[in-house]
Amino acid sequence: MSLRELVVLGTSSQVPTRHRNHNGYLLRWDGEGFLFDPGEGTQRQFIYANVSVTSVTKIFITHFHGDHCLGLAGIIQRLSLDRVTHPVEVYFPETGRVYYDRLVNASIYAKAFRPIARPVPLSGGIVGGDGNLTIEAYPLNHAVDTVGYRIYEKDVTRFLPEKLKALGVSGPLVGKLQREGAIEWDGKTITKDQVSWVRRGAAFSFIMDTRLTDNCFELAKNADLVVCESTFTKEDSKIAHSYMHMTSEQAAIVADQAGAKNLLLTHFSQRYADSRIFRREAREIFPDAYSARDLARYPFHRPEDAVREETQKSVDDKVEVKQDAAFKVRGAEDSPSADETPVKDAPAKD
Ligand SMILES: [Zn+2]
Ligand SMILES: [Zn+2]
Repeated sequence: MSLRELVVLGTSSQVPTRHRNHNGYLLRWDGEGFLFDPGEGTQRQFIYANVSVTSVTKIFITHFHGDHCLGLAGIIQRLSLDRVTHPVEVYFPETGRVYYDRLVNASIYAKAFRPIARPVPLSGGIVGGDGNLTIEAYPLNHAVDTVGYRIYEKDVTRFLPEKLKALGVSGPLVGKLQREGAIEWDGKTITKDQVSWVRRGAAFSFIMDTRLTDNCFELAKNADLVVCESTFTKEDSKIAHSYMHMTSEQAAIVADQAGAKNLLLTHFSQRYADSRIFRREAREIFPDAYSARDLARYPFHRPEDAVREETQKSVDDKVEVKQDAAFKVRGAEDSPSADETPVKDAPAKD
């Protein structure tokens, strides 16, 4: 089976903490490596995660606050140093072009590799993709221009060989049925629906730095995995509103109402030492909610594989056990978090 997983490189908002790096998420989707919001230190987090930076094929920036983009300079220079030959597109809100240009040209390096800029308009809609995957971006509601991303694959019709055989349909007739949707055969009309099933394509959503807004629901619609900011707890919802962020409760409302399958909460404020509080709150509304942890890997299944648990390798065996317990597609346990150790020197203000 092709590799599909989300490698979390960092989960901290605004500033890194002892246990959380700035943002960074690598979605491995078959042969693709989609890097989202590389904050400061992302290049080193790749090493800790035991993943090569050269596996990156596309980069997505939601907005140009430092915790979502300061790692871009290092990643681009590393791709150049490693002389990658495959194209790498970088998606970002078009109004942030000046920051993109600065980051790509942040210091002196041998430009053996050039990323392909894909500025995203703030109007919302399809911004890229190929024959199989479609990339959409929608504006969010933050202090600066911000977009969320949604990536989904095509539904595929699969014929059922035993049904075709029972009806005596084979060879070119199958092609005709595929093209035309129905055929006349042996005195009967045979429709495609009778002899096939549709494998629904997987969908992934990435929602960062926003107040709760309609486009959160659009992005998360029927997604198999929604990665959503959850900077504050519901107790601090007033602060969340004034800083233009979401709470764990709001993220859960989005996942629930959008019909999502799994919700991964992240972008935690430094004021919370233990990230389990976010998933506890979210599960009151949406049971399949999890708090992301740095360097953990989360399965991103094809829909029909949703009941299959994957075991992933991690750098640290002890951490691996915790990570596996931390995210199960169905019914995760409330396992201890690496963030449990109180961060005594964390300032209270965000
Ligand atoms: Zn942020
Ligand atoms: Zn921000």
